[in-house]
Amino acid sequence: MFETNANFAIQKDKNDPLKEYRESFFIADENTIYLDGNSLGRLPKATKLLISEVTEKQWGTNLIESWNKYWYEKSSELGNKIAKLIGAADNEVIVSDNTSTNLYKLAHAALRLKHNKTEIVSDVFNFPTDLYILQGLIEEAGTDYKLVLANSKDDIHIDINDLKSKITQNTALVVLSLVAFKSSFFYNAREITEWAHKKGALVLWDLSHAAGAIPIDLTKTNADLAVGCTYKYLNGGPGSPAFLYVRKDLQNKLTSPIQGWFGDDRPFNFDLNYKPAKGVRRFLTGTPPVINQMAIEPGVDLLLNAGMKNIHKKSVTLSEYFIFLIQEIAQKNGFTIGSPLDSNKRGSHISVKHPEAYRICQALINPQKSKLKIIPDFREPDNIRFGFTPLYTNFIEVWTTVERLNTIIETKEYECFSMKKKVVT
Ligand SMILES: *Cc1c(COP(=O)(O)O)cnc(C)c1O
Repeated sequence: MFETNANFAIQKDKNDPLKEYRESFFIADENTIYLDGNSLGRLPKATKLLISEVTEKQWGTNLIESWNKYWYEKSSELGNKIAKLIGAADNEVIVSDNTSTNLYKLAHAALRLKHNKTEIVSDVFNFPTDLYILQGLIEEAGTDYKLVLANSKDDIHIDINDLKSKITQNTALVVLSLVAFKSSFFYNAREITEWAHKKGALVLWDLSHAAGAIPIDLTKTNADLAVGCTYKYLNGGPGSPAFLYVRKDLQNKLTSPIQGWFGDDRPFNFDLNYKPAKGVRRFLTGTPPVINQMAIEPGVDLLLNAGMKNIHKKSVTLSEYFIFLIQEIAQKNGFTIGSPLDSNKRGSHISVKHPEAYRICQALINPQKSKLKIIPDFREPDNIRFGFTPLYTNFIEVWTTVERLNTIIETKEYECFSMKKKVVT
């Protein structure tokens, strides 16, 4: 199905139905291969234009009048657009705060609703901020509360039997990343949700590494709660606010622990007593970072336009091609796959393991003997993560990356670098 020669990649690109989307992104340098869209998506050209309109016209010229005209409803409008990407209904998603804060608000609300149960279940693959937030919440809730983590046997997949055995009648909430940030392991959301519901627990999905990368259907899953960020596959820009989802029938049963005025029923009545807004708006807190928030829309529009099915199809092909090349031509140099091989169990990034992963990653980013810069990222202890973002990643970039990995080993280029880690990897 795949071939190892460059011509094969060139042909794949020629026949790619999504190929013209690359033009929609600002690409400063064709000698840079960017494979870190799972950490920070590229800048859509339309966002660049919009930001200058937001600053010059909306802020500069229209000043405070822009709140009514452009800004106030944007949290809901963006929520409704993101809802279409994740299979939710209108008024079930809202843009607010960052993922950590949204997780805190929803997990707190869930614990309050399930006040007779004292356990939260998560897994050892979860993103650290999720675990930190949950640890704080447990401490706040009292000494009888406990956080229980499901394990992995192979460091690539979560052991589903172990997870299921940890979800009991005493579980208030299950908090999982739908796609794991390190290995890219991807849960069957429906199976886990059904299991948790049978035990009387709620489930909160963190979609940060999944939204915009894989098709998600929260409605079909009968999902309770979800959060996720917009600066990864949604291309919203650095620090762009996150989103949260609450299934419609749960919205008025849950209350936010951060009772800010934006979550009040009538913020501009300036009442002295808080009354939660009806619906998902009650999970807003205060004034959003407007410029960052306005920057989200063009990236989401591009995804909606291209269609998640088409995006996922290309993601699977790019990933399978990459795995094929690693196994066919780079295994000899010590590279192995640290992600599930089954595309039904994998998101849109792939971890490659190598004992010299950190220094190889440095050589990719700071080439000494090549004009070509390749940007993946490094994750402890020995993973190089390659993110495939189908709207702007193409096949020749995948081919070139694997060639370059081989060259770095064969010329020992990685030996120019120190093993000492930088702060942001
Ligand atoms: C990126 C990511 C986050 C980031 O949280 P912030 O509060 O936006 O910094 C949280 N959870 C997961 C699973 C992520 O991948």
